[in-house]
Amino acid sequence: MTTVQTVTGPIDSSELGRTLVHEHVFVLNTEYNQNYQDDWDEEERIRDAVEKLTELKGLGIDSIMDPTVLGLGRYIPRIQRIAAQVDLQIVVATGLYTYNDVPHQFEHRGPGLLVDMPEPLTEMFVKDVQEGIAGTGVRAGILKCAIELAGLTPGVERVMRAVGQAHVQTGAPITVHTNPANESGLVAQRVLEEEGVDLSKVIIGHSGDTNDVDYLCRLADAGSMLGMDRFGLDLFNPMQERVGTIIELVRRGYVEHVTLAHDANCFIDYFSADAKAHAAPNWHFRHISEDVIPALLEGGLTEADVETILVDNPPPRAGGVEDARRPGGGAAGRVSPCGGPCTSSSRCARA
Ligand SMILES: [Zn+2]
Repeated sequence: MTTVQTVTGPIDSSELGRTLVHEHVFVLNTEYNQNYQDDWDEEERIRDAVEKLTELKGLGIDSIMDPTVLGLGRYIPRIQRIAAQVDLQIVVATGLYTYNDVPHQFEHRGPGLLVDMPEPLTEMFVKDVQEGIAGTGVRAGILKCAIELAGLTPGVERVMRAVGQAHVQTGAPITVHTNPANESGLVAQRVLEEEGVDLSKVIIGHSGDTNDVDYLCRLADAGSMLGMDRFGLDLFNPMQERVGTIIELVRRGYVEHVTLAHDANCFIDYFSADAKAHAAPNWHFRHISEDVIPALLEGGLTEADVETILVDNPPPRAGGVEDARRPGGGAAGRVSPCGGPCTSSSRCARA
């Protein structure tokens, strides 16, 4: 039995059901919101989110993992109000979202810095997982960091190592925002492995932005889950290409490494709702249920494959706190038919 922390309390991992591993309720900047969003209506935004998430539940999705962390506008009291009104389960995250530097709040505090002290980021992340976030009692169920085209900058590396250390202390799974264009998922795996992370508990996020199946297999062979998690962002990779890549991964025996999501949101302050709908008309919570799953089935996946992807693969089930702490827990150490560290029990691509 693995316990998963949701906004409304702990549940057994078997209760998560069909899970999208990367969806945001809100993406915003609090300072921008407080100074420039004159039209912000808190009650209307909550009503809207409740409506969209209720619709998602009606389309057969039981849970979402919301990797909205520092840098993306995490505010748990607002999420609590929404979670109380929807049947859908929400797992929230801790971590820090930066492509370059750490925020100034951490610039001078940490090992070897002006204020020489243990890494405050690690302490924050561990507290969020073990005690709860900002006095709400809501515990983070997943850790998050990012590595983009700028690569492993000092700030990105500091956050990533803190996330890795928090994983080692808590067993919480990790999701990493990566960019396949510079294969930054491989860098994330190296750094996290150096920190002692069990790579089978790591989702390499935004892997679905590429159709380079060999790159994806390298990530999976190291044990990680692949975040095929931007369905609807056709401007980065069209749906049919994303679907074709998943079909090829499954054909090669990697069904146990595939996870799904849209990386969508109920509200984002990057652009207006109209501009969002114009630029990415399919970028909404209905797309996977209405379009993607039918296309996967038509392309040859079985209903059982889809259940594996949606129900079995999301990482709280692949190994939660208890699993990670159990000696020999997780998939690390298993050897695939190709002799690599692949965790898949299905047929191996290289066998
Ligand atoms: Zn995201």
